[in-house]
Amino acid sequence: MSMPIIVIGAGVGGLTIAALLSTEGHKVRVLEKSSKLGGRTASVKFRNHILDNGFHIMPFYKKSAIFTVLKKLKIDSNLILAKVNDIAFYSTCGFHGYPKGILDLLRLSLLPFKSRVKLLRILFPLAFTSLEKTELWDDVPLTDITKNLDFDTNAFFESVCMLAFADTADHISLGEFTRT
Ligand SMILES: Cc1cc2nc3c(=O)[nH]c(=O)nc-3n(C[C@H](O)[C@H](O)[C@H](O)COP(=O)(O)OP(=O)(O)OC[C@H]3O[C@@H](n4cnc5c(N)ncnc54)[C@H](O)[C@@H]3O)c2cc1C
Repeated sequence: MSMPIIVIGAGVGGLTIAALLSTEGHKVRVLEKSSKLGGRTASVKFRNHILDNGFHIMPFYKKSAIFTVLKKLKIDSNLILAKVNDIAFYSTCGFHGYPKGILDLLRLSLLPFKSRVKLLRILFPLAFTSLEKTELWDDVPLTDITKNLDFDTNAFFESVCMLAFADTADHISLGEFTRT
């Protein structure tokens, strides 16, 4: 028991378990291969701006696992939440505001007008789908409904998947996409 517990990686997972173990009195050593903490949630400061690796959403954050841990560690008051209106993201087309719904997504200059009409036909029914029904689609790949679309409309789904899931559309299920 005198040996420290070695945690490999200082992402959210590693830091969380290390902090919890150390509050329980264990000796912990965290080994991190890069020069900064945070893993995929890392951010850098640049000319008074905070540039995130990607924006992170904590829906109903007070009920989230991470908030429970922060509270247990008594550092929940350190959590700084950004207001959605202060967030922008960058694509090859320039800076965009954070999209807050379907209409905002369609307003992004990511795709030509004619593709937006096709998209509305797909997205509106999804937006009104019940939670229970989306769960039936958890094994259906999103690409089942996007594979026959034209290049631009498909590119929209790819961009939204990258934006919201940091992954490509073939790795996202239709259920997951619809809920998001
Ligand atoms: C753009 C983007 C947006 C996201 N948005 C959300 C969101 O909105 N909501 C949400 O809940 N999640 C989101 N996620 C997912 C979330 O960021 C990850 O699930 C979470 O950060 C994973 O944490 P982790 O500690 O498991 O792994 P990581 O963050 O990947 O940390 C692993 C750490 O281990 C280090 N490491 C790896 N190998 C070694 C080694 N051999 N030796 C030493 N160190 C090593 C790495 O350098 C890294 O620091 C998003 C992810 C991305 C990329």
